[in-house]
Amino acid sequence: MKKTIDVQAAVALAANEAIAARTQGSFGVGGVLLDQHGNVLKSLQNNVVREGLIFDPTAHGERQLIDWYFAERAKGRALPPPEEVTLVTSLDPCAMCTGAILSAGFNVVVAARDANAGINYDASFSFACLPAGLRSQAEASFFYPAVKGASQFARDSAGAAPKSFFIGKTIAEATQALCSLVFEATSEKVQALLTSDPPRAQLKDPAQLAPDHPLVRQLKTLYPDALAYRCAPHRPDAGLAPYLRAAMERDRRQGGEGDAVALLDSFGNLLLCSPGRRALSAICTAFMECTRQYAQLRYTLMQGLDAAAQAEVRQYLAHPRDGTFVFARGPDASAQSYMNLGAYGSTMEGPLPADNPAQFQYVTAALDDAGLAAICAHMPPLYRDVIRIRPRQVADSALVAALPAPESQPTMQPTPQPTTLP
Ligand SMILES: [Zn+2]
Repeated sequence: MKKTIDVQAAVALAANEAIAARTQGSFGVGGVLLDQHGNVLKSLQNNVVREGLIFDPTAHGERQLIDWYFAERAKGRALPPPEEVTLVTSLDPCAMCTGAILSAGFNVVVAARDANAGINYDASFSFACLPAGLRSQAEASFFYPAVKGASQFARDSAGAAPKSFFIGKTIAEATQALCSLVFEATSEKVQALLTSDPPRAQLKDPAQLAPDHPLVRQLKTLYPDALAYRCAPHRPDAGLAPYLRAAMERDRRQGGEGDAVALLDSFGNLLLCSPGRRALSAICTAFMECTRQYAQLRYTLMQGLDAAAQAEVRQYLAHPRDGTFVFARGPDASAQSYMNLGAYGSTMEGPLPADNPAQFQYVTAALDDAGLAAICAHMPPLYRDVIRIRPRQVADSALVAALPAPESQPTMQPTPQPTTLP
């Protein structure tokens, strides 16, 4: 097992992962997870893109490391509690990863800055883009080591005191520059890939395909009720309620609080309705499951096909930006909700289509509209100014009435803990 007692050595390992991610054609970002002695538990690279295709828009290094940690513990492996674990990342965590980190309770050491999506995008170290209730936790767990030098990459240290096992507490200027430049060298290219899907006018209705068409078969293998419900485009109605309720029930059985997220396409077809799997990982919410499962379905279908065949997949099973995500429960001010908002941003990546501003809808409100608007208005620029994330309640009051009222749900339960240490 590798051991790192200097911040510099740990950041250099994260930088190596970032280079591997870039070589793969994904965002050039990587990270490592350290125990309370500085031993490397796991290192991972960004895996958003594989083989020139979007594999999983949520596969950032940090999010994957956290899911790895919970999955290992669920299997019974003895790992230190999250407050003794330190995640070292080559790039400032995005909104999704910050929500996941705060939800799990890890410490973080951050190298390069991300002025677009980073939680410290403005270099103020104030965490003002987080809901107020999460800021003090971020201040106590995020460390930005000093970078000595005279270039644009130099900075003073900021944030929480580093863990005591770190003897050296600074990053070399060249390593910081590497973390920054490897990311910058990939981000535009990957974002272009993320927005390479056909416009809405060229999309085709999967409900017109024969039931034994391979696309339909694969879709129904993932979700047997796919295409069983259809509404007016972007206007989910009470007919969606039984599918949401069934997923909410499964979410409770799988360790959640009764959340579910449905994905409708631009024709109004139900494609997928997912529960979370919180018993497996504390950050495995319904939305994380829904967006990842759909992206991986498209990836699996397109893998190895020629351009024309890939284009057919993109037309029938379109990018979610032209459809509608319907959350059973609206966002609140929790770390998990912030993670979901960030993951939603990573799924959309670019601006929402002008004709589909209400892509993100929810049935039961957890916050009033002003409270939700304030959270969205404070998010880093990618989410606030480019994507313009703005969840809205569904228009159909019969759908709202058809889901269990929030009072009947155990809303304020703490995050379920994974298997206890032996
Ligand atoms: Zn991230």
